[in-house]
Amino acid sequence: MIAQYTTTLAQKNIIAKNTYQLLITKPKDFSFAPGQYMFLDFPNPTNADDKPSFRAMSIAASPHEEHLMFVMRGSDSAFKKNMIAMTEGDEMIIKGPMGHVMLPNNSTQSITFLVAGVGITPARAMIKYEEHAKSEREITLLYASRTKDSIAFYDELKNVQLANYRAVFTLTREDGEWEGKKGRINSELIEKYVDDIQNTMYYIVGTKVFIDSMKELLEERDVAKENMQFDNFG
Ligand SMILES: Cc1cc2nc3c(=O)[nH]c(=O)nc-3n(C[C@H](O)[C@H](O)[C@H](O)COP(=O)(O)OP(=O)(O)OC[C@H]3O[C@@H](n4cnc5c(N)ncnc54)[C@H](O)[C@@H]3O)c2cc1C
Repeated sequence: MIAQYTTTLAQKNIIAKNTYQLLITKPKDFSFAPGQYMFLDFPNPTNADDKPSFRAMSIAASPHEEHLMFVMRGSDSAFKKNMIAMTEGDEMIIKGPMGHVMLPNNSTQSITFLVAGVGITPARAMIKYEEHAKSEREITLLYASRTKDSIAFYDELKNVQLANYRAVFTLTREDGEWEGKKGRINSELIEKYVDDIQNTMYYIVGTKVFIDSMKELLEERDVAKENMQFDNFG
């Protein structure tokens, strides 16, 4: 049975365009692995639609951080309306943790994150975990967002203190003030920034369309199935 907890919202912030961060009080003795997700629900939701009242959300925090963190885009769904209406101290229901996307046990295995949009959440948890553990493995983050103001954790992810880390941000829509990469994550970008394409562990996070396109691209380059892990946000 999945464990269920009633806890409270400690803080709600807007951290990028239409992007909400919820910091939630960790239940006592709660443990999870970086990359896992939970179901988020509300005890007395005021809005309802034809969908369930809860959603799956990746834990964006590493286990060593004080709060559980969830990050999501706003939308017109009843769930998101309920989320936006939440204020500090309100009760929340969380179920889990769940999910088998895990960091490799082998500490020398290099890892590559291919993420789009709010798919950054489990990647952020794993990267912060590795930073805390002073990992020396090679870690590459390729992170696609629409516009600069929609990038969640831009400064934090640019400034991660890891021995062998690089973060590449790319924008898929024109943005006047951006001097970095533009366009989707493609073979060219992967070949430029990933040293050994066949021998890294890929974490691919985003919509189904994004995941399918990354999978196809890696399969064309003979990357083994065992070297790809997916978090499909739908
Ligand atoms: C393991 C896992 C982890 C996840 N982690 C995160 C996370 O960290 N952050 C996050 O933001 N999301 C995450 N998700 C996705 C999340 O559960 C929600 O599906 C997502 O946030 C959209 O929720 P919503 O209430 O805005 O939209 P929903 O009401 O659930 O609708 C889902 C999608 O259906 C489409 N849709 C809905 N209604 C209409 C309509 N009337 N017309 C046309 N299209 C429509 C839209 O494209 C919409 O985005 C995760 C999902 C999984 C499975």
